[in-house]
Amino acid sequence: MKALVKAKPEPGIWMEDIGIPEVGHNDVLIKVRRTAICGTDIHIFKWDDWAQSTIPVPMAVGHEFSGEIVDVGIEVRGLKVGDRVSAEGHITCGYCRNCRAGRRHLCMHAVGVGVNRPGAFAEYLAVPAFNVFKLPDAITDEMASILDPLGNATHTALSFDLVGEDVLITGAGPIGIMAVGIARYAGARHVVITDVNDYRLELARKMGATRALNVSSQTIDDTMQELGMEEGFDVGMEMSGNPQAFRDMLRTMHHGGKIAMLGIPPGDTAIDWNDVIFKGLIIKGIYGREMFETWYKMSSMLQSGLNMEPIITHHFDVDDFQPAFELMESGQSGKVILRWH
Ligand code: NAD
Ligand code: ZN
Repeated sequence: MKALVKAKPEPGIWMEDIGIPEVGHNDVLIKVRRTAICGTDIHIFKWDDWAQSTIPVPMAVGHEFSGEIVDVGIEVRGLKVGDRVSAEGHITCGYCRNCRAGRRHLCMHAVGVGVNRPGAFAEYLAVPAFNVFKLPDAITDEMASILDPLGNATHTALSFDLVGEDVLITGAGPIGIMAVGIARYAGARHVVITDVNDYRLELARKMGATRALNVSSQTIDDTMQELGMEEGFDVGMEMSGNPQAFRDMLRTMHHGGKIAMLGIPPGDTAIDWNDVIFKGLIIKGIYGREMFETWYKMSSMLQSGLNMEPIITHHFDVDDFQPAFELMESGQSGKVILRWH
């Protein structure tokens, strides 16, 4: 089968012919229809320090996908050939304390599809049936291929009550932009988002942001004044991984504010702890998606008015993967979709 393989320990990604994966007793085999390119795939494409120390070579990569079940292992119940599906890309151990308590997203042994084991940028993918999410008819193949990052946005955005609250989102990458839509859907008052990329800020406006600020020329403080906000943001979502963005968020939060942190800052990032302590801020780290509450929440929101269409900006046939990766790398796109079948 065709697959996009990290074939060599150097920048790039290669289309290769590899074997169709074996289907274990508890697995399903999925014929992949659509995939989406994640920031993680760009790290792998560029072959940065994180990728070099994480990704085995050679391996097919990718984890954002949708498709159709074409084979099921003999132990699998509740799924059948022909089901349209996507799947959770974190494969959890099932026996640690958190897994046994139903807190699978906190499993300490999680393994990532397309990061630690063969990925979805391929004609066929085998995953444990447990990880599969059956798609309602109302969710298209394209939309289903971005449920993984939409799940990051949903997990982050729904961590704290948003009804009538003022929300600051730092980082208008695809996930930050999706979080704008969710905050609007959930009933926030002002949704302010920051970035340094005008293309993406424009997408955030389309998604319903009250203000989308380019922090290289505008300040959050001025925007708060314009909006008549005198006390600070109630909820923060850090989605840039940029230390200065996080520091600006801490400074502009209201006392008792709550922050959900998805972005991954450098390990030695320094902050003013006085903001955290004297304002009594609550900071929650977010990893992946809650299994499977996040999946049901986002699926239900998509079926009841949450419009994520603006975030999908480009489609390519998979044979045109090179320009697709380059476009994603440029930052002049929302989500980029690859067609497989
Ligand atoms: P992305 O890299 O596309 O988006 C980050 C955005 O932050 C970019 O648009 C960038 O221009 C912007 N930015 C840079 N400097 C900024 C500044 N000073 N102020 C405001 N914005 C600034 O990433 P994404 O795919 O949207 O993911 C968002 C973040 O979440 C990334 O840091 C990513 O690594 C992280 N992530 C975490 C998880 C998790 O499970 N915790 C999962 C997926 C992604
Ligand atoms: Zn576990």
